[in-house]
Amino acid sequence: MSDRPPQTPAQALSMGWLWLSLTCVGCNHRGEIKFDDFRIGQSAQPLARLLRKAKCSRCGGRDFNMTIATRLTEHGQPFPHHLPIECEGDAIIAARRN
Ligand SMILES: [Zn+2]
Repeated sequence: MSDRPPQTPAQALSMGWLWLSLTCVGCNHRGEIKFDDFRIGQSAQPLARLLRKAKCSRCGGRDFNMTIATRLTEHGQPFPHHLPIECEGDAIIAARRN
């Protein structure tokens, strides 16, 4: 598994990432979205641009700690992988926070 973060939902799926997890910095509310659930028209768009529209459903905050993850499966990954990410302009980069 490469630690170079994917730049679009389609690329994430092709690299084996399945989930995007967002934790609101303001209220700690946590949400997850499957890369599969992005609509066709969104899957080739820059993830950073899509994330800019994200808004916490509890407090309306727009600042999130973000992690992408694989899923533990019987025949897939032997263990889950997680990669904290952040946006830098229209690019997704590996987060520097840990
Ligand atoms: Zn919130």
